[in-house]
Amino acid sequence: MQGLNGKTALVTGASSGIGQAIAIRLAQEGCNVAINYRKDLEGAQKTQAAAQTAIGQVEPGATLLLQGDVAKEADILRLFATTVERFGCIDILINNAGIQSEKPSHEIATDDFDRVLAVNLRGSYLCAREAIKHWLGQNRPGVIINISSVHEVIPRPLYLSYSISKGGLENLTKTLALEYADRGIRVNAIAPGATATAINADWTDDPQKRAVVESHIPMKRAGTSDEMAAGVAFLVSDEAAYITGQTLFIDGGLTLYADFREPWSA
Ligand code: NAD
Repeated sequence: MQGLNGKTALVTGASSGIGQAIAIRLAQEGCNVAINYRKDLEGAQKTQAAAQTAIGQVEPGATLLLQGDVAKEADILRLFATTVERFGCIDILINNAGIQSEKPSHEIATDDFDRVLAVNLRGSYLCAREAIKHWLGQNRPGVIINISSVHEVIPRPLYLSYSISKGGLENLTKTLALEYADRGIRVNAIAPGATATAINADWTDDPQKRAVVESHIPMKRAGTSDEMAAGVAFLVSDEAAYITGQTLFIDGGLTLYADFREPWSA
């Protein structure tokens, strides 16, 4: 992809799944990568090793491991300060960290509701705020990608806080894109469909449950983290220089209303 060589990217929640694949892909594209993780140091080290291999360096040089919880403002400030100290700047922010919680909506504990919003939505906003401050302060362009979900538009019963957080990310993406479009800052999102990662371990690791999930997907299979990372690599590159405020759905057709393939009334 054009324009990525030598750029610096900060990827939140990069110790597993989609975030890990994005960090590795951006390293392959020639980026320095700051790899944020919350608890899983081993996973983050795997990301780092794969990223270093991708760029042909044995010793960590173009990568940085950053422990931090995106629900905590102080941690976010530290992530940005440490990345800038190490690489001199940040060009790309990937708001990937995310959690979900399953409960009937009338039974959700307030703390549980708050936690999902604090990680998925507030954390993404606070990271975006720090990135934008950095870019405006240095008078430089920048790119943000929010990792949303098909549940940005598809309501998901039993996952209310998750659905709300991803719906909020759509508006965060559009509002920031509009507000900063004339200052060289682009803000987009990708919306993964059902992707085989740890967040879905309850069905990815069970062949019967997985078959049920995949039967609902028009392409009849789950997506991969690498397929999500490919969409991100395009959107952060100069090849997407005129794209802002958009969500790219990477979902095997999940948002195409598969139930309408056959006429209901025939
Ligand atoms: P995952 O569980 O492997 O990844 C989530 C990552 O976020 C983990 O590495 C986790 O440690 C990190 N994280 C959680 N809370 C954090 C915090 N407070 N601070 C920092 N990091 C934190 O699952 P994934 O599928 O790779 O999820 C990545 C993103 O993709 C999430 O935002 C998720 O909502 C989104 N997504 C996933 C799917 C899917 O089907 N897998 C579909 C749509 C959207």
